[in-house]
Amino acid sequence: MSKGFRNADSTQDMSEKATADQINAILERDRLQAAEAEERRAHGGYGICETCGKPIGEERMAALPTATRCMRCQSEWEQANRP
Ligand SMILES: [Zn+2]
Repeated sequence: MSKGFRNADSTQDMSEKATADQINAILERDRLQAAEAEERRAHGGYGICETCGKPIGEERMAALPTATRCMRCQSEWEQANRP
C-alpha cells in the first residue's frame, strides 16, 4: 500500500516538473511574441495578422495587445508549436 503511494508521489513529481518546463516554454514563447509585437508596432503593421495579412480584430487586440496573428492563424500556429 505504502509502495503504491510512493509511486503516485514520484509520478506527481514528474508531472510537476513537466508542467514547469511547459510553463517556461510558454513564457519564453510569449516573451518572444511580445517583443515581436513591439517591433511591429514600431514599424507599422500592428493589428495585422502576420500569417494571413488580415486585420486581427479590435476585440482580440484589446484582449491580447501582443497578438501578432488572428485567432484562426494563432490556433493553427499553437498546434504546430506546442511545447
Ligand atoms: Zn491570420
